[in-house]
Amino acid sequence: MTQEKLAPATAPAVTETPRAWTRRHLLDVDDFAPAELEAVMQTADAMKEVLGRDVPRVPALRGKTIVTLFYEASTRTRASFELAGKALGADVINISAGGSSVEKGESLIDTVRTLQAVGAGVLVMRHWAAGAPYLVARHLQTAVINAGDGAHAHPTQALLDLYTIRNHLGDVQGRRVVIVGDIEHSRVARSNIWSLSAMGAEVIICAPATLVPEGMRPAGPHGGRSNGDSSQAHALPPVKVETNLDRALENAEVVMTLRLQKERMQAGLLPSLREYATLYQLNEERMSRARTGALVMHPGPMNEGIEISPGLANSLQSVIEEQVTNGVAVRMAVLYLIVRGAKP
Ligand code: ASP
Repeated sequence: MTQEKLAPATAPAVTETPRAWTRRHLLDVDDFAPAELEAVMQTADAMKEVLGRDVPRVPALRGKTIVTLFYEASTRTRASFELAGKALGADVINISAGGSSVEKGESLIDTVRTLQAVGAGVLVMRHWAAGAPYLVARHLQTAVINAGDGAHAHPTQALLDLYTIRNHLGDVQGRRVVIVGDIEHSRVARSNIWSLSAMGAEVIICAPATLVPEGMRPAGPHGGRSNGDSSQAHALPPVKVETNLDRALENAEVVMTLRLQKERMQAGLLPSLREYATLYQLNEERMSRARTGALVMHPGPMNEGIEISPGLANSLQSVIEEQVTNGVAVRMAVLYLIVRGAKP
């Protein structure tokens, strides 16, 4: 890989303007067309410009109330939604399940109806149950943004990852992106597979067979089978599965490593953390197999020393902090498009 190949290429062609946005909710990116993804990217560019001003605020959502409702822990996602809402002039209220009436036994639907009744215009919701934001969206007039549901989807993470890659590489079409780690429990991996595939990237997933979702599991002990012909291929777009990290990294232009999600993991999926780190930790030595200057990404929070070495996490190749920073502009874009771009 030459540095030239990694230099920003021209921006992908835009076939529709952001006005093409028609969604009332953002539940996943699994049905996003490239033009819609591009609409978010372009709107995020405009938001980034706002964030670079001396006073990084615009009144675009003045008078709107955004409620973040989190049934699971979060630092980046919640903080960036709050900052995004405030930068757009909205009022933002944060609610955690702990400390709310959920602790008194209130059901999810009663909780969100209450939030709608007090005037929430947008509900940003994280829940441990896959599908919870879909259920809520069916019961509310209020717009719902999925900020992570179980192991299912994390659309704004995928959008900010796409934005970060695009800012470095330009067109994502044909780029080799390796997603390594706990794919089985990762909503980040699933949403990224959808958005990167839609934009024409070549996605390779890499994990021990026990952490590869069923239906994608490699055929033999050495892996390397595409899920394109599997019976569950409809569940995700076709991606190549490679259980050997060194092989997976060859010619990679982007490597995204994932946190081992111990809170979602059943016992027995891994012999030991030490063995996992030996075989799957992304470190400087391993990254030398990827193309020169390949991007290193992680959605956070990181288990440094397990899925990524501290040296690599803090290296010049790492765009991990940039992902977090871009999260604000991308979430501003999503909030703006949901509120101002939605069909009446
Ligand atoms: N922050 C991401 C998520 O909420 C990734 C992770 O937790 O590992 O899914």
